Amino acid sequence: MNDLQRIEEIRSVLLTVDDPELPSVSVLDLGMVHDVMIEGSDVFITMVPTFAGCPALDFIEINVKKAIEKVSWVATCAVHFTFDHPWSTDAITERGKVQLKKHGISPPPEDYQPGDVWTVNCPFCGSDYTSMENVFGPTACRSILYCSSCRNPFEAMKPVVSLTKS
Ligand SMILES: [Zn+2]
Repeated sequence: MNDLQRIEEIRSVLLTVDDPELPSVSVLDLGMVHDVMIEGSDVFITMVPTFAGCPALDFIEINVKKAIEKVSWVATCAVHFTFDHPWSTDAITERGKVQLKKHGISPPPEDYQPGDVWTVNCPFCGSDYTSMENVFGPTACRSILYCSSCRNPFEAMKPVVSLTKS
């Protein structure tokens, strides 16, 4: 196996590591993995923290290390969080958005700009006839909404815009 194949293997393992606050959405699909580097049998992963209000970074680091160090050729895995590349909800992959919806969480809007009206579509029926029940959901990054069309409550991820994005 060459380094490129090894990096591919590491990335596929990262697809199995979930964000503790967003079950079934991997850290890779959340756009948290900035870089994967390999030196011999040591793996270095640079990650971008998501919402400042989601203090699960220690958990994520432990879970990533555990998963990667199970790979046969890996000796050690080091996880480093960088704050130089601000995360935004635009970094969530299409697969990540589908997984969020499956869990009744409306994915954040695309290309949201500060000041835009935040239109939320119901993850169950797709209607935008929804109303905010509680801005402060179970975690700082989610809100509780109510769909007036299919009458289901659901959660929505708040849009996070990277202000330094070019
Ligand atoms: Zn609905």
